[in-house]
Amino acid sequence: MLFRSSPTSACCINRAASPAPGTRQRSRMIPVAEAVEKIRAAMTPTEAQVVPLSEALGRVLAADVTARVSQPPVDVSAMDGYAVRAADVAGATRGSPVRLRVGGRVGAGMVADRPVGTGEAWRVLTGAPIPPGADAVVPFEWVRAVSPNGQATSEVPSGFGGWTGAIDEVEELAIDVTAAVDAGDDIRARGEDQRAGTVAIRAGTRIRPAEVAVLASLGRRWVWATRRVRIGVLSTGDELVGRDLTGPLPPGLIRDANAPGLMAMVERDGAEPMDLGQVPDQATAIRDAFIFAVQGACDAIISSGGVSMGDRDMVRHVVQGDGEITIWSIDLRPGKPFAFGSFRGVPIFGLPGNPVSALVTYELLVAPAVRRIQGEVATGLVEVPAVTEVALVNDSGREQFMRGVARTFHDAGGVVSWHVRPTGPQGSGILSSMSRANCLIRLPATTTSVPAGGAVTLSLPGVPSLW
Ligand code: AMP
Ligand code: MG
Repeated sequence: MLFRSSPTSACCINRAASPAPGTRQRSRMIPVAEAVEKIRAAMTPTEAQVVPLSEALGRVLAADVTARVSQPPVDVSAMDGYAVRAADVAGATRGSPVRLRVGGRVGAGMVADRPVGTGEAWRVLTGAPIPPGADAVVPFEWVRAVSPNGQATSEVPSGFGGWTGAIDEVEELAIDVTAAVDAGDDIRARGEDQRAGTVAIRAGTRIRPAEVAVLASLGRRWVWATRRVRIGVLSTGDELVGRDLTGPLPPGLIRDANAPGLMAMVERDGAEPMDLGQVPDQATAIRDAFIFAVQGACDAIISSGGVSMGDRDMVRHVVQGDGEITIWSIDLRPGKPFAFGSFRGVPIFGLPGNPVSALVTYELLVAPAVRRIQGEVATGLVEVPAVTEVALVNDSGREQFMRGVARTFHDAGGVVSWHVRPTGPQGSGILSSMSRANCLIRLPATTTSVPAGGAVTLSLPGVPSLW
């Protein structure tokens, strides 16, 4: 099976159909990576505000968070068992166990009232502070309970059982330890998670559920986070019907897939989408919508459609009338007709109208900017190496991003890798290819084909990058 970059492609690789390197058309196109960098550099992170932790999920931390206390605050037990002096049980085995007196017990949230003496063991539960003097924990599994008269021993197979069953009823006087332990074994050392005075989470980090948990563990009820930014989203095109039309489409007209899709992307990326609606391919209408966005305090504007070379493609002219276009035409398939600039000082992204092109250019060129405006530091797409299950062709002469289905593959030797196949036909109007995909397969402009079993790179939009 062979998947081509578009259903209209020729049946064989035909580089002659693409503009040769160095021709006027080709030299105007900006490589994707360069465009990403230029756009990122043009973004100014927005201001910070104090946010309650309960509302911080999805925001970006605007100031480093330093641990005021260590985590854990003291050495604690990592297991249910007995705190001992490792030297006391150095020679212990199942055949020749070491008997220790039980000196006391410490549960989580308690502290021992005296140190552990030589030849002594203290019963500890997970999370209990290690009594001074002890330097290791022997898990219950390696301990036998000794009968009150000191004659018999009993396996303690799981947790506390001993002679009578319930933990609080057991007042054993001695235990037999059946295995040696090293100092430090099964102890969570003070500060092993967080050390007091060190940065726990850096400014520029997106606050995910894990960060919420860390912040809570550090006692933070409020954090400095960047304001939620607002991104205006506009659809342009004479052919778009109103979104509330539920009946049959009038001839020649289509529904607006882009604005709802792009607003969902904006929301996924932590920003607030502002619906600028739909306008026909008329300069005045487009300009009015952009002005509305500026007056509505949008931090950036995204439009789709009307940004190519056609008679009715007005977006670039409108932007140039009130600002400038700094990037136009990307060395990319799908998504070559992409424009970036500023309108009355507000960053503006002119995306192609083809729905696949609109969503792919959003992922590659707009999402990093939306994240950067929010102050996020790690804005790059996560990439992984993969093996293609079918032959791939890139006859576009441009860097190509095919929609792919990636899965983990376990070979006979137990080695795990990513395998990928395209979603099917890759035309830029085949929007269903986006919804079936969980990755983008990146083929450099210079790669004309990859055989089945060959190496490719996957981009994973939506997977948070960290640094
Ligand atoms: P354009 O970039 O304006 O030349 O549009 C390219 C193609 O995308 C045309 O077939 C348009 O009908 C289609 N298109 C433009 N805007 C949208 C939209 N908002 N939703 C779905 N299709 C669109
Ligand atoms: Mg159009």
